Amino acid sequence: LQSPAPRPGILDIAAYVPGKEHAPGVAKVYKLSSNETPLGASPKAIEAFQKAAASLERYPDGQAVELREAIASVHGLNAANLICGNGSDELLGLLCHVYLAPGDEGIITEHGFLVYKIQIMASGATPVVVKEKDCRVDVDAILAAVTAKTKMVFIANPGNPTGTYVPVEDIRRLQAGLPKNVILVLDAAYAEYVRRNDYEAGLELVSSNRNVVMTRTFSKIYGLAGLRIGWMYAPLAIIDALNRVRGPFNMNAPAIAAGAAAVRDQAFIATAADHNLEWLGKVTGALSSIGLKVTPSVANFVLIHFPNVDGKRAPEADEFLTSRGFILRAVRAYGLPNALRMTIGSAEANEGVVAALTEFMGRA
Ligand code: PMP
Repeated sequence: LQSPAPRPGILDIAAYVPGKEHAPGVAKVYKLSSNETPLGASPKAIEAFQKAAASLERYPDGQAVELREAIASVHGLNAANLICGNGSDELLGLLCHVYLAPGDEGIITEHGFLVYKIQIMASGATPVVVKEKDCRVDVDAILAAVTAKTKMVFIANPGNPTGTYVPVEDIRRLQAGLPKNVILVLDAAYAEYVRRNDYEAGLELVSSNRNVVMTRTFSKIYGLAGLRIGWMYAPLAIIDALNRVRGPFNMNAPAIAAGAAAVRDQAFIATAADHNLEWLGKVTGALSSIGLKVTPSVANFVLIHFPNVDGKRAPEADEFLTSRGFILRAVRAYGLPNALRMTIGSAEANEGVVAALTEFMGRA
């Protein structure tokens, strides 16, 4: 006897495989595979989480008002234009389910975040993959790929796993060139790491158009990945449509409380951004000096390309690093079989990876 078959196309989806967690037999492990912050969460967020844990018998606020208002006040937005989700992953999925149907196309880029493709396919629509230029989003190639079937375009800015950045002028050009019935999704999961004012311009692009949305997360610089908190800034009509289909209590109460406290603690975030900027430069410089190509990144991770030489390729480097307790992310599934993505970690972790790779490259 067989179980009923899922909808056509569901079994064509390759499930998301999270990064490795373990280095068997190694006493001290540094997990640098999921772009988690080495600085943890704001103590104020942890305190709010613990306070919320005192009344877990109660349903959370289904509108996540406290969180939406805190985000709105810190970013100067209207809370009515915000929707929160169980990670920004949930919101990306909701968008696809609400706006895509079989026959539609969703444009993604060559090394784009895998969740876009999964959710486009889960909605029965077709992902259209556009080439990048040396790990950079190519706005003209995206515009050239638009057809009458295109309904959504996904850009991660900075990109994951590339760490590269699309300047706001290019985003504006993309938006201006898209038909008005196409939703442009600006996934800004790593926005807080970028030292430019372009995100304000990105938010402004949402405010002044009817077809642009921006997603953000508390999983990265805020150090709350375990609580699953994401948010989206979007025109009211899009917020309304998503609210009709989201789970009535999609945010849990400790997440709402901790997220609100975290976003109010911008001083904590500034420290995390400083730590990252310092080590992003140091790690990029050190790895380049031992003959590795590192894609210039503005995020909290770097993409390291290995020589195409026996014994020196990414899988061997991965094995070597793991044996020393450094877990990086293999990015084969992103079309990068000879690269590893390294999250910027603590000073000790960063120095450890540089030392291990120096040895691996025979430069010790
Ligand atoms: N977008 C990008 C580009 C990401 O790298 C991630 C995290 N891997 C997410 C979205 C999802 O983040 P979360 O669901 O934890 O908010």
